[in-house]
Order: sequence, then structure tokens, then C-alpha cells
Amino acid sequence: MNKEDLRAHIKYLSGTIPPPVLLVAAAKTRTADEVRIAIEGGILAIGYNYVQEAEAMQKALSMGKEQKSYRVKWHLIGHLQRNKAKKAVQLFDMIETIDSPRIAKTVNSHCEALGKILPVLIEINSGKESNKTGALPTDVPSLVRETAKLKHLKVQGLMTMGPRFGDPEKARPYFRLTKSLFDQLKSENIPNTDMKYISMGMSNTYQQAIEEGANIVRIGTKLFGERSFD
Ligand SMILES: *Cc1c(COP(=O)(O)O)cnc(C)c1O
Repeated sequence: MNKEDLRAHIKYLSGTIPPPVLLVAAAKTRTADEVRIAIEGGILAIGYNYVQEAEAMQKALSMGKEQKSYRVKWHLIGHLQRNKAKKAVQLFDMIETIDSPRIAKTVNSHCEALGKILPVLIEINSGKESNKTGALPTDVPSLVRETAKLKHLKVQGLMTMGPRFGDPEKARPYFRLTKSLFDQLKSENIPNTDMKYISMGMSNTYQQAIEEGANIVRIGTKLFGERSFD
């Protein structure tokens, strides 16, 4: 897409998302020009799968401490390795992919060192797929409770990818499972949690996800156009 088309397209797509829902631009493989156009077009959150790629983009946009004029938030939406946790804590405003007590503790200790409290989501492997990251549904309640005990993390909800199907309607059971776990945990009022976000839905499923209760959607292809590689 050329710049003019991209500007118009981002405006159009943003208009299809009802206001309480936060659109996270899944920006993997995009150029700095594309990401800048998204930010200037009103996108409030940028999602990255990899710590290094987010770091390179923040540098390319020269969004260092001296230039915090953009109020965009950075979300980690890919699996986090422990040896990247320190950098992740420095670069991101939210980590959506906490999926084990071990990674939660590591992230918490880096937050403590920085004197920062970081919003996090617990990632659920709603399809119980062996090749996917995320905590199994049965492990999610205990993981939320364990993470809630960590003083420098603030659990704000759940995130899921769900299995990929050609037919987006087939994603609904996984979104419903995520929503019902969320509702159950929210009703427990676990101390030091603020259960308010459900992050689910991507380009082909975001409408179904919103109907099933998502208030964060992560969109790449439908926002920026097809990726040439992943
Ligand atoms: C790439 C990605 C998305 C967006 O995928 P699209 O199909 O391009 O919209 C959402 N969430 C995660 C975790 C991703 O890696």
C-alpha cells in the first residue's frame, strides 16, 4: 500500500472497531514509515512479538526518553523468554503473554529493580494445542492467583490466540471459554488484580471476538496489508 492508501485504510479499519475496544496494531515486519503512519492515524497501541524488533522500531521512530510526544503504548504479544525479560520490562507498557509462574517471577523481579509496576495479561492456550504457548485453561486460575501475589505486576486480564481456522465462526468456542474464565476470575475479586481486559481476535476473527467479549483486538494484516514474510 502507498502512504495515502495506508492512511485512508487505517482510518477506515479503526472506524469498524467500537470505541471501548482497544486496537493493538500487530506490527511485525512493518517498516518505520508504516508504523509512524499508524500512530499518526490515531492507533494507540503497537504490538510486537519480539523484544528486539520492538526495540529496533522504537529506535527507528526515535521515541527515546527525549521524545515521548507520541502517547502510544507498546504491548508484548509474543512469547517471552526469560533472558529477554529485562529488556521487555524496559520497552513495553504491557506484557500480554505471561504463561507460567516462572516467567511472572522473572518479570516481577526486573520491574522491582526498575521501581515500576507493569500491567500484564495471562495468556491462555484456549485450544489446548500442544504446539502453542499459553497456560492450559485448568492452570489459568492458579496462575492468576500466583501472579497477583507479585507486587510489581498488575494482572489486568486474559489474552488468547486460539486455534486458526479458515472459518472465523469456528473460533467462537475458544473465545467463549476465555470469556467465561475471565468472568469467573473477575468475580473472585482477587487482591492486587484489576480484571478488565480480554485480548483476543486477529484480522480474520476480530469481529467474532468483539461479539464474544474482547476489548483488546490485535490486528496486523487487515490494518497494514499482507505481510511479505512472517
Ligand atoms: C501477528 C499477530 C497478530 C495479528 O495477526 P493478523 O492475522 O496479521 O492480524 C495478532 N496476535 C499475535 C500474537 C500475532 O503474532
